[in-house]
Amino acid sequence: MVEIRKPIQVKEAVELVIAHAQKIGTEILSLEDTYGRVLAEPIVAKHDVPPFDRSPYDGFAIRAEDSAGASGDTRKSFHVVGEIGAGHVADRPIQAGESYRIMTGALIPEQADAVVMLEQTVENESGFTLRKPFQVGENISFKGEEARKGEQLIEAGTLIHPGTIALLATFGYSEVKVARQPIAGVLATGTELLDVSDELVPGKIRNSNGPMIRAQLTRMGIGYKSYGMMEDDLDACTEVVERALRETDLLITTGGVSVGDYDYLPTIYERLGAEVLFNKVAMRPGSVTTVAVLGGKLLFGLSGNPSACFTGFELFARPAILTMMGCHAPYMPRTQAVLGEDFKKPNPFTRFIRASWSMTPQGIVATPAGFNKSSAVSSIARGNCIIVLPSGTRGYEKGMTIDILLLGAEQGVERWEL
Ligand code: AMP
Ligand code: MG
Repeated sequence: MVEIRKPIQVKEAVELVIAHAQKIGTEILSLEDTYGRVLAEPIVAKHDVPPFDRSPYDGFAIRAEDSAGASGDTRKSFHVVGEIGAGHVADRPIQAGESYRIMTGALIPEQADAVVMLEQTVENESGFTLRKPFQVGENISFKGEEARKGEQLIEAGTLIHPGTIALLATFGYSEVKVARQPIAGVLATGTELLDVSDELVPGKIRNSNGPMIRAQLTRMGIGYKSYGMMEDDLDACTEVVERALRETDLLITTGGVSVGDYDYLPTIYERLGAEVLFNKVAMRPGSVTTVAVLGGKLLFGLSGNPSACFTGFELFARPAILTMMGCHAPYMPRTQAVLGEDFKKPNPFTRFIRASWSMTPQGIVATPAGFNKSSAVSSIARGNCIIVLPSGTRGYEKGMTIDILLLGAEQGVERWEL
């Protein structure tokens, strides 16, 4: 008898998985190794930024009062007493009618309270003249104008990107407390599977899910241990799943979660005493996606169908892994787009369509990336986003507004079509 499974809504399923994603502690890394990690402590300004009053331009540091009354007819003349390059300091304070030639980033000399840009001056033998009065503080980057000592600038739980690294470096964080990263186990199941380098033989296909999942992990900067491919053999698969759970922090398997004769993952979960969070999700593709927990570790049983497998990883495994890493924003960015072609099929379940978005004069247009069954591989290859069509809808026409999920959030676009 075929088991009847009760579908759970996608949102509920994702939240359930995230609720079971356990953090695995923190570690201290040297700054250069923190890209892609998650801050385990907030970034607090250890000093004012900038740390001293400085010049934002190449020009002359003056006392504003000495420029009072300057005009085109009555130019004010200044005597230049020296030069301050970035990283240098003035020998002495300036006095009435004096100035220092000053470069961008250099400390403002004592008594000076304005900077005249080079372009605003006419040089002469002893210095320069100018034709307008300056305000006190004009063209000065003030100590602490960007951040004050003690201010919290970035929250713990934020993913570290190059800008975060710049900020950490600014405050001398040569070592940073970050969340530990999980190691994922990856196992592809299916007696039909061949290795990438194998020749095709009747009835067999090459394992594309294994390499794809490993690349999805790599895109997130997550390390993994590959358990290769296993035939649909209950005992052998049980043994590998058990071993993988000892050796890794979470396990991603593909295939074998359906109700076919050789779909052994449900039996394996039962044998091992894993708690199944759900085994049917109201989504297409990937309704058989199953997630279980054992000893606090998540087991992702993704469908063997490539499009379902890909989507299952992005929807469930990715936010769970980010949550394990302490990230407080684990969801894929979502935005609206204009549908690029008709999609008339009904959507009894929430539908996720591999698609490609681009910028056009009409805004962001997302178009399904070709053959779109759950077994499709080429649409994953062509796609750069996922269109989401809510359950209970049908008859989407070109030009309608739809939602898209953006893949590879740290990736930029190649060109603007505007
Ligand atoms: P399953 O989820 O095991 O029922 O498999 C569903 C479909 O996905 C079948 O047509 C399988 O042959 C195919 N499939 C399973 N595993 C893989 C894999 N690793 N790579 C590519 N296709 C697969
Ligand atoms: Mg199978």
